[in-house]
Amino acid sequence: MKNILAKNGGVPVRTKKFHEWPYADERELHNLKEVLDSRNWWRMTGSKVEEFEEKFAKMHDVKYCLGLSNGTHAIELALNTLGIGKGDEVIVPAFTFISTATAVLYCNAEPVFADIDPKTFCMDPASFEKAITPKTKAVIPVHMAGHPCEMETICNIAKQYGIKVIEDAAHGHGTEWNHKRIGSFGDMATFSFQNGKIVTCGEGGAIVTNDKDLYEKAYLIHGVGRPKGDTVYEHKVLGSNDRMNEFQAAVLLAQLERLPEFNERREQNAKRLNDLLSSINGIVPQIFDPRGTINSHYMYMFCYKKELFGNMTREEFVEHMNAEGIPCFVAYPAICNTSFFKARAFAGRVNITREYKEELIPNAVKVSKEVVWLPHYTLLGDDTDLLEITLAILKIKGML
Ligand SMILES: *Cc1c(COP(=O)(O)O)cnc(C)c1O
Repeated sequence: MKNILAKNGGVPVRTKKFHEWPYADERELHNLKEVLDSRNWWRMTGSKVEEFEEKFAKMHDVKYCLGLSNGTHAIELALNTLGIGKGDEVIVPAFTFISTATAVLYCNAEPVFADIDPKTFCMDPASFEKAITPKTKAVIPVHMAGHPCEMETICNIAKQYGIKVIEDAAHGHGTEWNHKRIGSFGDMATFSFQNGKIVTCGEGGAIVTNDKDLYEKAYLIHGVGRPKGDTVYEHKVLGSNDRMNEFQAAVLLAQLERLPEFNERREQNAKRLNDLLSSINGIVPQIFDPRGTINSHYMYMFCYKKELFGNMTREEFVEHMNAEGIPCFVAYPAICNTSFFKARAFAGRVNITREYKEELIPNAVKVSKEVVWLPHYTLLGDDTDLLEITLAILKIKGML
């Protein structure tokens, strides 16, 4: 009876929970209490945001970090800081979370889509180069699921054409490419600390950079134009309020202490799971380029080939996995295939006349239709967890 699928009334492969997420212990509690008692709940009078910024910058081998309200605002702020706006084009991968592209629209500029590498799901440098026009001002490579992009190649192309590089590192806390921390390659890099991310305070974000001028400019914009320590309503530039507060930083400081250990555990488990799942006909895991010397594994991704699963749709497969006790989801759609992009519903900000041709981004279109992903906390446990993930897939395939 064991092989009746759980969704059809059978016994699930797994009933045990995976590792808790978000995860916190007495360290978060201690830091939060300190902030509460201090009566300094915003960064302008407190010290936790600054402490966090110093640690986070150091961790990514960069000089400056600016704590922010969330990762979407971080991308918008990076674009604003670089002076990108009306009439400009910014190249983004077609396969990413929507914010990478909507941030460009929010700055009244046009996102232009580059294709991804079908093995690593990261932006394909050759497709990036092909998408460049005289209007291109910046490129936003995304370190997909924690897999670092080919940063030297991307930066070299960008330099040749005078294009700025903003790394969207929302998935890549502590990730390395060729022994160099991501976030330290581009002109600026952005991070997210949203609830599901591998370092989280519920909602939060950051920008890192090695450029003092960009840092100072971003600082002014993120705090409605006010310089550090201002008490006299000195507003130097047009800005918004993207500030991180002291509670967010209190939680993040504790989270950072666990990151190296968690990254290592996920790395080991992701490699092991790749070995296990690669042997299943019809499951093709994201391939880890060995030049990615640290991969944070924000998501564990694989392509699901439905033709090898009796044509069971990907959505059905995910439902079965969930019923068997394995959390997993379908991947992002290719951005230009989202309904508001198709409708060009950009709230009057940008008038895009360019057609979105799927033949320019074939890998992104294919991958977005095939990828299933498991959240990172499924990689924080032991070998039994990985075996049960494998067994659930085999069971759904009818091989148990
Ligand atoms: C999560 C995410 C963002 C946005 O971050 P928020 O903090 O949720 O605003 C941006 N880009 C990518 C690739 C993301 O996954």
